[in-house]
Amino acid sequence: MQSVIHLENLRKSYYLGKQELPVLKGINLDIFKNEFVALMGPSGSGKSTLMNILGCLDTLSDGKYVLNGKDVSRMSDNDLADIRNQEIGFVFQQFNLLPRLSALENVALPLIYAGVSKKERNERAMEMLEKVKLADRYHHKPNELSGGQIQRVAIARALVNRPSIILADEPTGNLDSKTSVEIMHLLTDIHQLGNTVVLVTHEEDIAGYAKRVVRLRDGLIESDKKKEELITG
Ligand code: ADP
Ligand code: MG
Repeated sequence: MQSVIHLENLRKSYYLGKQELPVLKGINLDIFKNEFVALMGPSGSGKSTLMNILGCLDTLSDGKYVLNGKDVSRMSDNDLADIRNQEIGFVFQQFNLLPRLSALENVALPLIYAGVSKKERNERAMEMLEKVKLADRYHHKPNELSGGQIQRVAIARALVNRPSIILADEPTGNLDSKTSVEIMHLLTDIHQLGNTVVLVTHEEDIAGYAKRVVRLRDGLIESDKKKEELITG
């Protein structure tokens, strides 16, 4: 089976002046179609750095990243942006919706970059809002929605391009526990509809929704366990 994500000895350093800060120190990882993976690890262990590379928002320093069979390790920023628009749906902790736009306009935004006609944009955005059960709020601005509703709009936006992979970096980090459960049920539904989902969380309860848990420590994978192994210990 072909990996959706294939990483070989992936390394990433940040530079503060000439000072090198190595963050990812040789990650080897394969994620297959329709997996639901939780990425865990202490604060500062490199989870967001890894997600940003997986999402083609940042470039790697060394090693190899193959996304759906395409080697994206050394791609230019422009090519990476194209890949991102085609393949990736990103959900962030801080939601990142545009405050002046309605829910529908926020969801439709990625389709503008993809060059889709206005009629089709609105139809597809509405379809996604139905999927996250917010069709009746399509004209509301973010400040007229609750935190959980805003995150559902963000998830609808992440899905609208029909990406091959959904990346969610602490999607429940700003939500209360009841709303977090709703968002995790939604991500579970999305996974069951056939999407590959990678979720970052530092909460064991939230990671419990995933079928596989990968733990990072100091820029390396410390453990990688499927659900069955997690239950039997
Ligand atoms: P996590 O998401 O696991 O908390 P991050 O990937 O955000 O970890 O950060 C890993 C390390 O890299 C931290 O030490 C952080 O301070 C550092 N770091 C993250 N982003 C940058 C950046 N843009 N420039 C410099 N250092 C960074
Ligand atoms: Mg982080």
